[in-house]
Amino acid sequence: MIESSLSQMGAALRAKKISSVELTQLYLDRIAQLNPALNAYITLRPDASLAQAKAADARIAAGTADALTGIPFGQKDIFCAKDWLTTCGSKMLHNFVSPYDAHVISQFNNAGAVNLGKTNMDEFAMGSSNETSHYGIVKNPWDKARVPGGSSGGTASAIASRLCAAATGTDTGGSIRQPAALCGISGLKPTYGVVSRYGMIAFASSLDQAGPMGRSAEDLALMLNTMAGFDERDSTSLQRDKEDYARDLNKPLSGLRIGIPKEFFAEGLDTDVEHAVQAAIAEYQKLGATLVDISLPNTRLSIPVYYVLAPAEASSNLSRFDGVRYGYRAPEYTDLADMYEKSRAQGFGDEVKRRIMIGTYVLSHGYYDAYYLQAQKIRRLIAQDFVEAYKHCDVIMGPTSPSTAFKLGEKGDDPVQMYLSDIYTIAVNLAGLPGMSIPCGFGANNMPVGLQIIGNYFDEARMLNVAHQYQLATDWHTKLPNGI
Ligand code: GLN
Repeated sequence: MIESSLSQMGAALRAKKISSVELTQLYLDRIAQLNPALNAYITLRPDASLAQAKAADARIAAGTADALTGIPFGQKDIFCAKDWLTTCGSKMLHNFVSPYDAHVISQFNNAGAVNLGKTNMDEFAMGSSNETSHYGIVKNPWDKARVPGGSSGGTASAIASRLCAAATGTDTGGSIRQPAALCGISGLKPTYGVVSRYGMIAFASSLDQAGPMGRSAEDLALMLNTMAGFDERDSTSLQRDKEDYARDLNKPLSGLRIGIPKEFFAEGLDTDVEHAVQAAIAEYQKLGATLVDISLPNTRLSIPVYYVLAPAEASSNLSRFDGVRYGYRAPEYTDLADMYEKSRAQGFGDEVKRRIMIGTYVLSHGYYDAYYLQAQKIRRLIAQDFVEAYKHCDVIMGPTSPSTAFKLGEKGDDPVQMYLSDIYTIAVNLAGLPGMSIPCGFGANNMPVGLQIIGNYFDEARMLNVAHQYQLATDWHTKLPNGI
């Protein structure tokens, strides 16, 4: 059952071949057995999950089941979920039990899905390796001495080891696509504004976007159908007609024009990754696609621009964590200012503090024009590169990450090396475009490689079609780590 697609699982549940309680228990048993070595989950509440499963079974019996009713999903611990501890990977929120549901969580609840647990993540979604979580490092199931990627590393590790049917992630600079690539699964970051950010703990609000992560493009389409939609509680949520993201899955690819950016195959890309990605692109040619050489000349500026803008927004968003209303408060202090300082000094980890300091600096009087304003202007140029490119192609392809999963601790002391992990993903967030990663082979040490597919605005249905056709022709997405 755990190798079935979401639509097969839903059909089996509706045909009463298995109950949601049985399916949920199956995953809970796997989690009890495998999670201690992986640390993919922060919070499990088996009784709450099983109660949801029981309600799903009643809904199925009443004949009112939806596509996802009764299916157990992991939820990244960045999403507020009523009565669930919601930590965002931080000591700052170690005692925060959310009084309300994020929009994404209520969409899954309304569909009758089961919340299996909250998945581990880099603290406040800052990181590319899942080593900054207050709740411990997450391991990559393909090699437990290696990182799963980040920040949605708990989600990626859980899916790759089949500790949930699928799960959610968020992507500010690559946090859905990079861990998906490093763990050999599929993940989609939608166009900015397609999925509501209400109740999703804010990192960099103009870049943050939630999306589905799972075993196949077909599964992602079903999840996006549930996650997407207008929500008036998020002022950047887009008012658009409801779409069926699975509608084009079976379209043939003949005539598809794939843009190949020369900047994505230059210095800095590991040769094992390059080989796997080139082989995937050759497979697309067999499927009827044609290749177009394109250029995204400002890509090289995306990391410096991101590391001005994202910390600037983070420094503002994280000012709410002050020890007053909720979250961590230092046990001892002399006066109010000392309480703020000690609570923040003790509650935040090093990477979060680094970002708050950078952000505060670039927004301060005298530096605002030189850094923040300048970065906003270059952000526009980066977006313009894509507008130009899409005059000549339908989708863009390249690597998701410059390397396969690196060793735990390898980049911990060198933030700039860590930041370079997102060299191919960040421009997509800066432009607000949709991007996805699908498994396309293995590199050195038998670690998975991800192919990145970047679409034009609101072209998620086409991207899912492009990914699904590849997954019909190849079997990389069905491969399992040893012992899973
Ligand atoms: N790795 C990037 C960072 O550390 C992106 C994180 C994300 O997408 N949430 O900011």
